[in-house]
Amino acid sequence: MSKIPLVDLRAQYETIKEEVDAAISGVLSRTSFILGEEVEAFEREFAAYCGAAHCVGCANGTDALELALRAVGVRPGDEVITVANTFIATAEAITSAGGRPVFVDVRDDTLLMDVSKIEDAITPRTRALLPVHLFGQMVDMDPLLEIARRRGLRVVEDCAQAHGARYRGRRAGSFGDAAAFSFYPGKNLGAYGDAGAVVTNDASIAAWLSKARNHGRASKYEHDFEARNSRMDGLQGAVLRVKLRHLDAWTARRRQLAASYREHFRSAVRMVLESDCGEAVYHLFVVRLSRRDEALRRLKGSGIDAGIHYPVPLHLQRAYSHLEMPRGMLPVTEHAADQILSLPLYPELATAAVEMVSRECLKLIA
Ligand SMILES: *Cc1c(COP(=O)(O)O)cnc(C)c1O
Repeated sequence: MSKIPLVDLRAQYETIKEEVDAAISGVLSRTSFILGEEVEAFEREFAAYCGAAHCVGCANGTDALELALRAVGVRPGDEVITVANTFIATAEAITSAGGRPVFVDVRDDTLLMDVSKIEDAITPRTRALLPVHLFGQMVDMDPLLEIARRRGLRVVEDCAQAHGARYRGRRAGSFGDAAAFSFYPGKNLGAYGDAGAVVTNDASIAAWLSKARNHGRASKYEHDFEARNSRMDGLQGAVLRVKLRHLDAWTARRRQLAASYREHFRSAVRMVLESDCGEAVYHLFVVRLSRRDEALRRLKGSGIDAGIHYPVPLHLQRAYSHLEMPRGMLPVTEHAADQILSLPLYPELATAAVEMVSRECLKLIA
């Protein structure tokens, strides 16, 4: 039986090989390996794509998050409100910026930040809100931005899984004071190595970031402050420019495949809700099954690669034991972690494969 992987980066490369190879050989012949014209062009194109004024390329998404948090003023001792059902990088970036992550629960239907839980989590030390647009769907931003305005908090969006996602017509990354993207290869817009970026409408934040990612450099031998090396490399800029031109078509295909799953499952399988406030880009297609671990084993046995994003919420990880948030504090997050299963979904996946995966899932619950 042929295997159905969770993602297939080789299949995608085959469809854009000529464009990518030409772009890479252009970088090699110009030897513009670090930042350079391809990165600058990508920054302009990606800012325009997001509907934001500025984009600053970084070495990876985790750095982009940390630099964005520092840029909006997160300082040692500050609290940043986020969620625990996310990749560790979200909270790690808060800690690296000197802050302390404060986790709130998620909504049971979308598994996104429950915005109604924010106000109870605000203390005099709260500096910023860090909503995570998980699985490719945007958090309910209108009430979140209203709270931020009223309580004087900054907003940084974690857009690592949400390239091109929309909320009330506008794209992810155009709402917060700053927004961080990851271009890790498996993301909806993925480089061929590590890469990330911060997008912002604030010119002074963008100016600070473009120094902060590059040793505080004002010019080649002038440094305004100590910072770090978190530059995007030229090869990644060139690859990302090629892939950005295909992103909307890939997203359309992801949405089509997601619709196909929904049609097969109807009310038989519980799925993460797509809210009608926007348009999800389906980084992952997530269902909820009561005997999830057994389902995962049996799917793997049938050659279907499924995944769990994420099996252990951050507040229950050893890395966050110092926060002293025992099981029971985020009941919706904890309950979902035992049920969620991510099914194969990527633009090159055949419609027949979705049919086969759906059939196997329906058999499991029959
Ligand atoms: C991938 C990811 C990150 C981190 O990005 P890297 O480029 O891997 O550093 C942060 N947050 C979320 C939600 C992610 O999925």
